[in-house]
Amino acid sequence: MDATRFDRTGGPDVLRMEQVAAPDPGPGEVVVEVAAAGVNFIDTYHRSGLYPVDLPSGIGLEGAGTVIAMGDGVETRQVGDRVAWADAMGSYASHVAIRAERTVPVPNAVPLETAAAIMLQGMTAHYLTQSTTSLGEDDTVLVYAAAGGVGRILVQLAKRRGARVLACTSTEAKAEEVRALGADEIVFYRDVDVPSAVREMTDGQGVDVVYDSVGADTFQWSLDSLRPRGLLVMYGNASGPVPPFDLGLLARKGSLYITRPTLFSYTATTDELTWRATALFDLLATGHLQLKVHGTYALSDAARAHEDLESGTTAGKLVLRP
Ligand code: NDP
Repeated sequence: MDATRFDRTGGPDVLRMEQVAAPDPGPGEVVVEVAAAGVNFIDTYHRSGLYPVDLPSGIGLEGAGTVIAMGDGVETRQVGDRVAWADAMGSYASHVAIRAERTVPVPNAVPLETAAAIMLQGMTAHYLTQSTTSLGEDDTVLVYAAAGGVGRILVQLAKRRGARVLACTSTEAKAEEVRALGADEIVFYRDVDVPSAVREMTDGQGVDVVYDSVGADTFQWSLDSLRPRGLLVMYGNASGPVPPFDLGLLARKGSLYITRPTLFSYTATTDELTWRATALFDLLATGHLQLKVHGTYALSDAARAHEDLESGTTAGKLVLRP
C-alpha cells in the first residue's frame, strides 16, 4: 500500500511516499480503504516537531473511506461500510487500520471526500461554539483566520446560534468569502489596531468571546479585545505558540477567562464523537453548511499541501487523494 511517512522532523521535504505492507486489523479494529485524507495544521506540527511523535512515523489524522476488513470483536461495523475519522495517525495512506469505535458512519448523502474534509475542522468548530462555551444571541465573538478551514465553519455555526460575528482575515478576496458566510463585520487584522477596531464595533465594550487560532502574533490583541469577564479561546498556533505569560494579566484586564482546548478532549467518548460528526453530516446533507475544498492533491504531493497550508494563503480545506 502507499503511505506518506517521515523519519526526521523538519520542513515539508521530510515527507516521503513509501510502499509498505498493508495493515491487518487487530482486535477491535477495522481496515479502511481510504478515499480521501484531510490535511490539518496539526499534521504540520507533528512533521516539524512542535508536537513530538515517535519516529519513523506515518502522518495525518483524518480521512474517510470504505471498510474492507474487520478484526475480532467488531460488532458495530461491516465490510462495505462508509466511515470517517479524525484521530488515526497515518491517515495519509491508501489503507488505515483504526479502532472501529473511533469511526463514524457516513450517510449516503455525503460524499466521502466531503466527509474527510469536514471531520476534524468541523468537529472543532462544533465544540468551540457549542461546548467550550454555548454561544447564543447575546454574544458577540471575534474569529481569527475566519476564511480558513476551521474559521469558515466556525463563522457559520456561530451565526446559526445567533451570535454576532466579527471576522478577522488578511485579504479582500478572503473577506468577500467570509461575508458571504454571514459574518457581520470584517477586521483586516494585519492592517489595523485590532483592539481599537473591536471597541469601535462594540460601543467600547469589547467582545464576549475571542476564537484565536493564530497564536503568538495575536495573543495580546485577543486579550485587549475582550469585555471584562470575557473568554479567550486560544485554540491554535498558526503563527507559533503563545509564550509563557503572567496570570495576573487576566486580573488586570478584567477577570478574563482563558482556555486552550483540543478536539481530542471534546470527542473522547464514542457518543460525543458520533454526536458532533452526525450533526455536521446533517447540516451538510440539508444544505445548511457550506464547505469549501480549497485544493485536492495526490498523496505523493503531501509536501506541497503542507507548504500551501503553512503559507497562510489557502482559504478552505486541503484534501489528499490516495
Ligand atoms: P487555516 O485554514 O485556518 O489556515 C491558517 C490561517 O491562519 C491562514 O490561512 C491565515 O489566514 C492565518 N495565519 C495567520 N498567521 C499565519 C502564519 N504565520 N502562518 C500561516 N497562517 C497564518 O488552518 P486550519 O483551519 O487547519 O487550522 C487553524 C488553526 O486551528 C491551527 O492553528 C490549528 O492547529 C488549529 N486547530 C486547533 C484545533 C483544536 O482542537 N485546538 C483543531 C483544529 C485546528 P488569514 O489570511 O486570514 O490571516
